[in-house]
Amino acid sequence: PSFSSLSLRAELLNNLPTLGYHTMTPVQAHSLPAILAGRDLLAQAQTGSGKTAAFGLGLLQRLDPTQLSIQGLVLCPTRELADQVANELRRLARGLPNIKVLTLCGGQPFGPQIASLEQGAHLLVGTPGRIEDHLRRTHLDLQQLKILVLDEADRMLDMGFSETLDAILAATPAQRQTLMLSATFADAIRTLATASLRDPLLVEI
Ligand code: AMP
Repeated sequence: PSFSSLSLRAELLNNLPTLGYHTMTPVQAHSLPAILAGRDLLAQAQTGSGKTAAFGLGLLQRLDPTQLSIQGLVLCPTRELADQVANELRRLARGLPNIKVLTLCGGQPFGPQIASLEQGAHLLVGTPGRIEDHLRRTHLDLQQLKILVLDEADRMLDMGFSETLDAILAATPAQRQTLMLSATFADAIRTLATASLRDPLLVEI
C-alpha cells in the first residue's frame, strides 16, 4: 500500500520518495492508520521492519511545529538505538521547517544536555536512566507531551528499567498517546502494556 492513502501532511508525504520509501512495510500498513487516529499501539516489530518510520511519522504528523515544547518522547534501550532513531526522525522531518530533535543518553556530560533542554525541542529521544535523571533534577518537563514511544520495550525490561519506566510514565500526562514496540510479547511486556496503554491496537506480523 502507498503512503498517499494516509492523512499525512504534504511536507511529510512529499519527502518519502526522496528517502526511497514508496510503499509501506507491513508494520507501517497495519499500524499507521491507527497511530494517526491517535490510538495506542502494541506492536511486535523487529529491527528492519520499518518500525521507526511507523512511529516517527505519527510523531511528526501530530506535533505542532510552532510550539517549541517536548511533544514526543522516544525511549530506547541503548545510545546506539537512540542515535539511529533520532537520525531517522530528522530524515523524515526534512520537509518540515525547524523541527528540533534532541537526544539524551547516559555516559554523556550533563552540562550540554541541560543547555540543549533550555534551548527547547519538539521531540526527545533517549535512554530511560538519563531521562529519569533529568526529570528528577527538574531540567525536563513532560507536561506538554502528546506521544510516548517505548521502542524495543522487551530489551528495556531485560536491562532492568522497569521501575525507571514507571517513574517516567508517572511524569507524563494521562491523556497521552502511547506506542509500545517489542520483539517479543513476554509476560513482563503484557504487564507493562496493561499499565501504560489504553485500548491498544495489537499488531503482530
Ligand atoms: P527500522 O525497522 O525502523 O530499523 O527500519 C529499517 C530500514 O528500513 C531503515 O533503513 C529505514 O530507512 C528503511 N525503511 C523504513 N520504511 C521503509 C519503507 N516504507 N520503504 C523502504 N525502506 C524503508
